[in-house]
Amino acid sequence: MDLFKEIKLFLLDMDGTLNFEDELIPGAKEFLDTLINNHKQFVYLTNNSSRSGKDYVKKMRVLGLPCEAHQVFTSGMAMGLFLKQNRLSQTVYLVGTKALEIEILSYGVKLVEEKPDIVVVGFDRELTYQKLERACEFLCSGAEFLATNVDKVCPIKGGRYIPDCGSMCDMLEVATKKKPHYIGKPNRDMIDILAKEYHLENHEIAMVGDRLYTDIATAIHAKARSILVLSGETTIHDVNESSLKPDHIFTSVEELKDYFA
Ligand SMILES: [Mg+2]
Repeated sequence: MDLFKEIKLFLLDMDGTLNFEDELIPGAKEFLDTLINNHKQFVYLTNNSSRSGKDYVKKMRVLGLPCEAHQVFTSGMAMGLFLKQNRLSQTVYLVGTKALEIEILSYGVKLVEEKPDIVVVGFDRELTYQKLERACEFLCSGAEFLATNVDKVCPIKGGRYIPDCGSMCDMLEVATKKKPHYIGKPNRDMIDILAKEYHLENHEIAMVGDRLYTDIATAIHAKARSILVLSGETTIHDVNESSLKPDHIFTSVEELKDYFA
């Protein structure tokens, strides 16, 4: 269908859009098959920086969805690419998981324990007070403050929440009076970085997701196409109340898939 003719790359939110934890949303598999049959590129996009790209490849395959290593893009990978594209000669002190450390190193970023130019904070489920203390010291000495994702909490099984990257940064912000620049959704960086990697214009990229204030906001900020699905968090009432207006709205990826048929 002409509606999506100019779109070359689809960025796909996962939770609430394609799956709920271990469960696929009906039509998700068929939607991915349709993208492949129509020669559309796609990337699974997540703000979660505590897990590696490899973890997500495994997760998507267990769910039964097609997934190669280059089709996963976490805010941690976005940070690695951002540093590679924009700060390669600079040194970084990382507050993050071992998985994030390996990811960042794979982009040729130089990690140090002393006198860094930049402090990078991720969703660190291995956080220690010592790491916070050092980050604080470096930020006060003039290091730039970058962080992977603004999320304050991360939902886990049983309807519970645990502190995410945004809460950790709040602690450092209060202590140092410095504000971080976040790379993840809803800022436009992830789309800008991918556009560079894929040699595309932002308007040739579409973001498909279930949240107005992250998925749709990211697309709007980056001047990419925004596609909201109502299978997750957002209701049509929320859309009417919000200033964030998606370009397209579908009940789910099942309905979206029919636009290619
Ligand atoms: Mg979602």
